[in-house]
Amino acid sequence: MEVLKYDLIIVGSGIAGLRAATAAAWASGGRISIAILSKIQAMRSHSLSAEGGMSAVLYPDKTGDSLELHAYDTVKGSDFLADQDAVQILVEYAPKEVRYLERIGVPWSREPDGRISQRPFGGMSIPRTTFAADKTGFFIMSTLFSETRRFDNIHVYHEHFVTKFIIEDGEFKGVTAYDLKRGEFKFFYGKAGIIATGGAGRLYRFTTTAHSTTGETLGYALRAGLAIKDMEFVQWHPTALVPSGILVSEAARGEGGYLINKEGERFMKRYAPQRMELAPRDIVSRAILTECMEGRGFQHESGMCYVGLDLRHLGEERINRRIPFIRELAHKYAGIDVLSEPIPVRPAVHYTMGGIHTDTWGRVLTADGKWVRGLWAAGEAASVNIHGANRLGSNSLSECSVWGRLTGEQAAKYVLETSRLPSPDGKLLDVAKGEESRVFDRLLHKEQNAPSPYEVKKQLNDIMEEHFGPFRHGSSMAEGLAKLKKLREFSSFRVVDSSRVYNQNLKDALEVDGMLDLAMVVGIGAYARSESRGAHYRLDYPKRDDVNWLKHTVAYMYGGELKLVYTPVTITKWQPEERRY
Ligand SMILES: Cc1cc2nc3c(=O)[nH]c(=O)nc-3n(C[C@H](O)[C@H](O)[C@H](O)COP(=O)(O)OP(=O)(O)OC[C@H]3O[C@@H](n4cnc5c(N)ncnc54)[C@H](O)[C@@H]3O)c2cc1C
Repeated sequence: MEVLKYDLIIVGSGIAGLRAATAAAWASGGRISIAILSKIQAMRSHSLSAEGGMSAVLYPDKTGDSLELHAYDTVKGSDFLADQDAVQILVEYAPKEVRYLERIGVPWSREPDGRISQRPFGGMSIPRTTFAADKTGFFIMSTLFSETRRFDNIHVYHEHFVTKFIIEDGEFKGVTAYDLKRGEFKFFYGKAGIIATGGAGRLYRFTTTAHSTTGETLGYALRAGLAIKDMEFVQWHPTALVPSGILVSEAARGEGGYLINKEGERFMKRYAPQRMELAPRDIVSRAILTECMEGRGFQHESGMCYVGLDLRHLGEERINRRIPFIRELAHKYAGIDVLSEPIPVRPAVHYTMGGIHTDTWGRVLTADGKWVRGLWAAGEAASVNIHGANRLGSNSLSECSVWGRLTGEQAAKYVLETSRLPSPDGKLLDVAKGEESRVFDRLLHKEQNAPSPYEVKKQLNDIMEEHFGPFRHGSSMAEGLAKLKKLREFSSFRVVDSSRVYNQNLKDALEVDGMLDLAMVVGIGAYARSESRGAHYRLDYPKRDDVNWLKHTVAYMYGGELKLVYTPVTITKWQPEERRY
């Protein structure tokens, strides 16, 4: 087992991870060594597929927008579960980040007068989604990645799958990783770490997220003594292409697209008469599913019910200029020309509002609120809590960039202020070697009678779709939890491929292993929360209950069992009110 020493270890090379690396490199004047680890090629990270844009207040004098309005929209969109001090940080730093990204080369779309273009997204009072056509993630990622190449002290480890976070005496010590390309096991030993491993959409089958968005690291985080916050809040995006689940970005509705049922009616007038198609995602998704349940949806040959996303009235010139990718994907994957036909869409899992429990600055906390020294989390993997029970579209890229920067800067400062890293002691090396043996000896060769990871993943997806979907009920969730517990009893998997090099079969087994714990966290949090709030909707408790449930769920592991505690929501300005759109 090779041991590599770094001042800062960043796990994840999406927008959060890359931004953290550039911020740490700048903040330290290039004086610290930084490793970025990614289980896939860095430039294939899921952030690449972000389409619609990044929210920020850019021209308050010209548009009437303000930081206060951005903060209020976000808090209201979150169904009042967001921490308002964290939201304040988001809105203050987001414009700075848009301009930083511009300086390093992101080609933002422009208005004829040279201003950066902005469009409306759901739940916004004023258009503030800043975009580069409908390929925003691609442009931000390419630009950030080339920026990292300017620094000799940033080393990118592609296709290094992290299997364990090592924490000792409340302090981060490093991670172990399986180097897929060489078939080797490595211990990355470090002073500081940033977890930026993205979301967990693949807990479900019908999802817009990349196949790599599996969330196993959140399961590993639990085993390392970390805590997971608000994981029951899973976002369904209203418009995924039928039958594939490929995202049709909210940009389509932001540019003026309509949602229509089979009677040709713009049905959103019944659910959100003022904002119509641009209500927040939880509301639009439930509206589409209600249309389907009440017989006003279209029926696809795959058996899926859907509604139409109608862009015909926007005209060819606008579509080609502002949302060319949407036209392309509707044509490629559904055989639809958006100029003459509506796109078939229905809700799909898109985002996980919850994540690793942190404070507002991204410092990772244990369930009892202590900082794990030297460790931060950023991006979709973290719960700094700006999204609460429902994220507003385009607030995620801002979050990734803002907290990427903030955690990178803090980690650099911490590294410079702590003494030199000694060599790892015998105890630490034993932990790393123990992990190597778990992965290569036990998982790889021994378990002939264990189930296949694919079979377990299929069952896991079935349970999540059936029992923890957009409409939840106590009795169904109890059934789902019992099934999950049974599935979680499998402590190992049958890995048929026996080679070490590029063993995707082994990698898939490692993913499912972490996903099982994470799915349980979604399940127990949802079952316990006897109210409806944002994306968590319970048929048996259809109302929000601020008296009992205005609080965050924090899950942690104790003796192999998952436990829950609750922490208060930080309210600095806006008391909860009824959400009307
Ligand atoms: C199709 C789509 C479009 C979207 N469009 C928008 C948009 O327009 N605006 C917006 O605000 N939001 C959008 N979102 C959400 C947004 O894209 C994501 O929340 C965001 O990109 C997440 O970035 P991240 O840096 O946190 O993680 P990711 O970009 O998901 O990167 C995760 C990284 O972690 C690494 N990793 C994970 N597990 C391991 C492991 N075990 N070992 C090593 N490495 C690991 C991966 O290799 C990867 O590098 C969209 C989401 C989807 C699904």
